[in-house]
Amino acid sequence: MQSQNYIGGQWHDAEQNRQLDVVNPATEELIHRVAASDAKDIGRAVGAAKAAFEGGWRRTSGRERAGYLRAIAQGIEERLDALARLEVRDNGKPLPEAKWDIEDTAGCFAYYADLAEELDGRQGEPIALPSDDFEARVFYEPAGVCGQIIPWNYPMLMAAWKVAPALAAGCASVLKPSELTPLTALELAAIADAAGLPAGVLNVVTGTGAEAGAPLSAHPDVAKLAFTGSVPTGARVMAAAAQDIKNISLELGGKSPILVFDDADIEAAVEWVMFGIFWNQGEVCSATSRLLVQDGIAPRLLDRLAEEAAKISTGDGMEDGVLLGPLVSKGQHEKVMGMIEAGAASGAALLTGGGRPQHLNRGYFVAPTIFVDPPEDAPIWREEIFGPVLCARTFRDEREAVARANDSPFGLAAAIMSSDEARIERIVRELEAGIVWVNCSQPTFVEAPWGGMKKSGIGRELGRWGLENYLEAKQVTTYVSAGPWAWYLKN
Ligand code: NAD
Repeated sequence: MQSQNYIGGQWHDAEQNRQLDVVNPATEELIHRVAASDAKDIGRAVGAAKAAFEGGWRRTSGRERAGYLRAIAQGIEERLDALARLEVRDNGKPLPEAKWDIEDTAGCFAYYADLAEELDGRQGEPIALPSDDFEARVFYEPAGVCGQIIPWNYPMLMAAWKVAPALAAGCASVLKPSELTPLTALELAAIADAAGLPAGVLNVVTGTGAEAGAPLSAHPDVAKLAFTGSVPTGARVMAAAAQDIKNISLELGGKSPILVFDDADIEAAVEWVMFGIFWNQGEVCSATSRLLVQDGIAPRLLDRLAEEAAKISTGDGMEDGVLLGPLVSKGQHEKVMGMIEAGAASGAALLTGGGRPQHLNRGYFVAPTIFVDPPEDAPIWREEIFGPVLCARTFRDEREAVARANDSPFGLAAAIMSSDEARIERIVRELEAGIVWVNCSQPTFVEAPWGGMKKSGIGRELGRWGLENYLEAKQVTTYVSAGPWAWYLKN
């Protein structure tokens, strides 16, 4: 297990020689220590990234970069099991889910390898102009040194979503993982190193948001900031970016609705509602945490949800059969328990769960919890909880369903369960969300754009949109006629 920062192709302790504890959330035991970095370490890493970028990385072909990305993908695949186990110990999620994450992490590097190669073919693409006197082409230049700041819910996958497209574009990266889950990002650095990635192209610096994240977002040599995390932190990162007019993309929180109409297949709805909120302990930015159910089927659907939620096996993510692991940290546990208490106090009815599972007396566990009919202005209905807590309300008709779904400051995702195709087509265009799932919730593909409207963020990751995030389009326009063209020489 790595514990030092990876800067300029070398492993370094934090300049101040301080360390952060890393705790297993299932056992509350200390499992490791990593560098507690500050502005000095960030400065060193940005310097290394700039030297690598200017020193040649920016001029590499997409094909060359694809070679490195494929070698990284292969390195991840070769260590899939060990990386998944490390993720479970660091984050708490069940092992089968951690394996998906690591497979997707490798898949993300392989996907952006293909896009890096394709980029070579797009360089110098002609642009049709309404004039024969000029010809225009477009080139795609890498944005420069990137500061990439990620959260703790999908530690290695979030690193891949940022690092793979940045490297594919020809950018150099300084990645700061969450202080709660830094371990797999450091392994990614080791894998990139073994893959022969030139020194300084990827740097990984661990530390808290205040001590390492803030100086990274404010560093004048960082051209592009990519942030995933909460809305308040996103606003701080955006304010820092504004000082230098940095290119910025933000993937922030959500409070996504799932709409279940009375023409939906009820058992399928039960399955997707459950998956949409209890997968990854509900620590999912796109979790469909607001259930809107048509009143005629509400009693049946809620009964079935309560029945299924009671069956979920909660425990250490390393144990066979566990579907719900602990929350990531003591702080997150306290936050979610506080929201549950506030929910009960708001007058919402507790259908199931509502506290620590009785058989687990250590670890940051919360039982699958469902509230019914919270007041519309209750924090549990309006704010992101980021835990295994579902809130349900009913609606009468399609108009009310859409109005309630859109009545949120967030706009990341939304899901509809219905068998009426005409209704589905009407609603998908009405929903204020960057991602709409029809008769499902949460499937995520590297090929499709990911990101939110309103307070859920700016820009899109994944797919070709994820690559564009790291590119500057440059137009080159050439005068191709003989003789003077400009008005003042002709006259
Ligand atoms: P957070 O905002 O607390 O932290 C995210 C990252 O920002 C961490 O690395 C943290 O160290 C860093 N940070 C904290 N303060 C900073 C500062 N002042 N300057 C720069 N960096 C700073 O979020 P979190 O608790 O780690 O993650 C949960 C949040 O992330 C949720 O709101 C969730 O919805 C969101 N999220 C969104 C997506 C998405 O794709 N939209 C994906 C995953 C998580």
